[in-house]
Amino acid sequence: MKTALFYGGRDIRVEERPAPEPGAGEVLVRVRAAGVCGSDLHNYRGHRPTSSAAPWQQGHELAGEVAALGSGVSGLSVGQRVAIEAEHLLGCGRCRWCADGQNHICPERGMRNGVKQSSHGFSQYDVCVANNLHPITDAITFDHAALLDCYACGVHAANRSPVPDGGAAVIIGAGAIAMTLGQVLRARGADQVVMIGTRPEPLETAVKSGAADRTICLAGQDAVEGVLSLTDGDGAAVTFETVGGRSQLISQAAGMTRRGGTVSVLGLFTVPQEIDSGLAMQKELTVRWSNSFSSWRGQSEFVTALRLMEKNRLNPGPIITHHFGIDDIGKAFAAADDKATSGAIRVMVNP
Ligand SMILES: [Zn+2]
Ligand SMILES: [Zn+2]
Repeated sequence: MKTALFYGGRDIRVEERPAPEPGAGEVLVRVRAAGVCGSDLHNYRGHRPTSSAAPWQQGHELAGEVAALGSGVSGLSVGQRVAIEAEHLLGCGRCRWCADGQNHICPERGMRNGVKQSSHGFSQYDVCVANNLHPITDAITFDHAALLDCYACGVHAANRSPVPDGGAAVIIGAGAIAMTLGQVLRARGADQVVMIGTRPEPLETAVKSGAADRTICLAGQDAVEGVLSLTDGDGAAVTFETVGGRSQLISQAAGMTRRGGTVSVLGLFTVPQEIDSGLAMQKELTVRWSNSFSSWRGQSEFVTALRLMEKNRLNPGPIITHHFGIDDIGKAFAAADDKATSGAIRVMVNP
């Protein structure tokens, strides 16, 4: 099979490797789609070294078809189309958080028997834990199913920081996490979703795809003033920060959030954040981090996202802007890395 091997930074090579064999409780999947996530780009940009030894495989937003079953797997059949939950979110299964269904905050998250677990979507085949597979109907494309990882992150953020009736939700950022979150919030009945971005094109996609009602483009407007003017001077009931990186956007989020409101942090920051604690105290803000997803009150958040997609409450099509085969994975990463030039929102690799 062909697989992409990551040697660090921009050095990605497609090599021929034997297809892996599924063990007990595992399934071999023929991967059909895998999204290039912002977190995939941290190492590519040299911002954060990976903890894996080079070369490593990656691709955690994936979907495909069952190719072979390991021993003891029931309820799945060869050829079945499946959405797949990422392996780096597997918990140890023994700690108090795993017992509570909160495997995304397990202290040993992504480790099993001392071995780091990860999904290899940028590969023609991947072995997956059978419990992580969710059958999909023919109405759901592989590309759309591969976006469920993003939608599940949105479901988790909305569960942790629900938008109260009549309150405005503001989303900082206009990438795939922002778009999928906006669609989840609107599917859940948010009255007003305002998206803030730096370029007009993705903001137009946000409105057209149902991810936002209103937008603020930083090319011509101040973000905090823009939010205040759209909310009768009050600010957002909940501000969702989805950018992270080297920005200082938690402080800006606090500035545009109303008194008694919530800042929900989905972005992964690579620098420490400063916040005006006097302002935060005056407004009595709540700041809640939202890390990936797992379950909420016993219900899988990935399945919640899948059910919303099945009911046509989400609109993944316009979010997926680019497609590349596995041989062109370097081009896929380049397009995802420089979105201003490529116009990409979510780049799909179809291996
Ligand atoms: Zn991701
Ligand atoms: Zn655990």
